[in-house]
Amino acid sequence: MYVGRFAPSPTGLLHIGSLLTALASYADARAHGGRWLVRMEDLDPPREMAGAADHILRTLEAFGFEWDGEVAYQSRRHHLYEDALGRLKDKGLVYPCYCSRKDWQAAAGMGADGFVYNGRCRVPEHRPSENGKPPAWRIRVPDETVGFDDAVVGHYAQNLARDIGDFVLLRADGFWAYQLAVVADDAEQGITHVVRGQDLLVSAPRQIFLQNALGFRPVRYAHLPLLVNKSGQKWSKQTLAPALDKAQAEPLLRQVSAYLNLPPAPQVDRPRDLLDWAVTHWNIKRVPKNAVCTE
Ligand code: GLU
Repeated sequence: MYVGRFAPSPTGLLHIGSLLTALASYADARAHGGRWLVRMEDLDPPREMAGAADHILRTLEAFGFEWDGEVAYQSRRHHLYEDALGRLKDKGLVYPCYCSRKDWQAAAGMGADGFVYNGRCRVPEHRPSENGKPPAWRIRVPDETVGFDDAVVGHYAQNLARDIGDFVLLRADGFWAYQLAVVADDAEQGITHVVRGQDLLVSAPRQIFLQNALGFRPVRYAHLPLLVNKSGQKWSKQTLAPALDKAQAEPLLRQVSAYLNLPPAPQVDRPRDLLDWAVTHWNIKRVPKNAVCTE
């Protein structure tokens, strides 16, 4: 059984890049006769935009998407993350870290996704005094290569110790880290296939490592090409990606379908028919690997 998902963060409204991810994850799931879930990744309230979660769901509906079951909200699932961290503590894989960023970043090397933590708090005697502040919790990573075969990108691998370093699962400010939440949620929701943007490719080895550490079933990955502006920057809130206009659902769906190399659809009555067309003609092998410029 195939279970896929679309997992937007309500830090802004959906834009053309989000539509590409929604369409590809939906088409891949339905073409396999699978379920397609929507999960709202509202883990980080200070970064969220008031009203964005509802706006995202209304936009998906206007574009003809229908998800299975109830929408899952990460803000209501903290018990799952607590449980996962507890299990990792029992296995002795995680440790409290009292370092502030300025303690270690100045001397740290750059890895695949930011600075590589120097591991100071791995050794209890090296931990700075607890000074009454709550720690962050980090997981100890092995000096091993974690690789996988991505349905779009092909083989991708990292050495976790060299490229990433011990990474945070629970932040010192009390917020759960994306890496842990996504793995705990995917497992609890029975997700079998993750189809998402290539900005998250760099996270996949950490997530595979966590799945293994927690004894979860592996998932299959497909990381989609990023949509970029003419300066080569990914469309996002920071690059002022325009929010999707519900009145333009049909032309926008046609546009992202073309980026996915779907054949052009005939005249349709409603946006939903374009989704059906995408499902019927879906072929992940035709999805390009490289970024697509939309301007
Ligand atoms: N919430 C993430 C985002 O909007 C996606 C997480 C995922 O698909 O694993 O970028």
